[in-house]
Amino acid sequence: MSVPHDELNPLEAAEARFDLAAEALNLNEGMRKVLRSPAREVIIHIPVELDDGRLEVFTGYRIQHSIARGPAKGGIRYAPDVSLDEVRALASWMTWKCAVVNIPFGGGKGGVICDPTILSDRELERITRRYTAELIDVIGPESDVPAPDMGTNQQTMAWIMDTYSMHKRHTVNAVVTGKPVDLGGSRGRTEATGRGLMIVTLEALKKFGIAPGEARVVVQGFGNVGGQAARLMSKAGMKIVTLIEWDGAVHNAEGLDIEALIAHRKQTGSIVDFAGGTNVDKTEALYTECDVLVPAAKENVITSANADKIRAKIICEGANGPTTALADPILKKSNIFIIPDILANAGGVTVSYFEWVQDRQGFFWNEELVNTRLEEIMTASFRDVVSYAEKHEVDNRTAAYMLALDRVAFTIQQRGLYA
Ligand code: GLU
Repeated sequence: MSVPHDELNPLEAAEARFDLAAEALNLNEGMRKVLRSPAREVIIHIPVELDDGRLEVFTGYRIQHSIARGPAKGGIRYAPDVSLDEVRALASWMTWKCAVVNIPFGGGKGGVICDPTILSDRELERITRRYTAELIDVIGPESDVPAPDMGTNQQTMAWIMDTYSMHKRHTVNAVVTGKPVDLGGSRGRTEATGRGLMIVTLEALKKFGIAPGEARVVVQGFGNVGGQAARLMSKAGMKIVTLIEWDGAVHNAEGLDIEALIAHRKQTGSIVDFAGGTNVDKTEALYTECDVLVPAAKENVITSANADKIRAKIICEGANGPTTALADPILKKSNIFIIPDILANAGGVTVSYFEWVQDRQGFFWNEELVNTRLEEIMTASFRDVVSYAEKHEVDNRTAAYMLALDRVAFTIQQRGLYA
């Protein structure tokens, strides 16, 4: 079965969910227009000299979807298929995500169309510094705070922080989060998204009366999000029975030894042919019967073409937008309990908030404090969303959007419009 083209446009997915929630909230048309529209969209063309002396021009975006509840907040993605609609969708998801966990940020996202796997570190540094310089009046601790996303990492954040600071003539570490700890990064930030996924999964398992030790988990993605989630979930006692990556999948019904799998991947460059498991087909692996499925790789993994094949009790969305809007009703029919992305993967931006607070105070917390506060926020938000869903008889995703839209709309109403 093929998937209609529009189904794969993340902006369609974001707007479809927005419309459902806005309708359920009975939001007036004017407020819907305000909440739908990004506050600001910047497109830049970045000329960069490649290592071989050739000149190349890369296109970059930074979109501030909302600045109503605080500075725009959200990652920067480096990938060959970045598009304006994708960044728009991701920026709006950041607004709803920050509102769901009730942290004082709006939402934003950036992207550069480039392939970080074929660019050298020096080339990536030049792209990042020029991108930052072009956005010097757009980003800032009070206005818009970037972070890592797909294809970017701590080093990228260090370059952004340094470039911004050079322009301002003093160190401004609160301009980005996800920095190395030595440059003002927060302890626990690298694990934060995975830890958040683990926390909400434990909460969902409680609802199902499944003990962590009995839970069979399938994780798709072994990057920072999927890798940390698999590691922390298996540490919490869950059995990671299947791990799926872009180049293959491995299975062990007794649970994979994740630390050993990480070592195997480090040595061989891939998760396949792991001594502690058997190779399985990566497409079929998504349909493994399990208690929890964690799609933590990319967008549009669960679509109208395959949603009926998913045999999980719980889906915990590690990636942004792994499920298309057309897949939602199919999963609902199968009675699958979804922990939607804007709740499930909010651990990353929550610790980014802690990082921003620490940078602005110049006072740094130990890892235990970070993890305790993260747990408080994730558990409270999970309970908020699930009880809202039960009370209003809607699914968890719609509940999360309703809660978020309502919070942002309320802020806009209270502030009033400056005209
Ligand atoms: N890129 C991550 C996300 O999509 C983190 C954003 C942040 O920490 O600002 O949630």
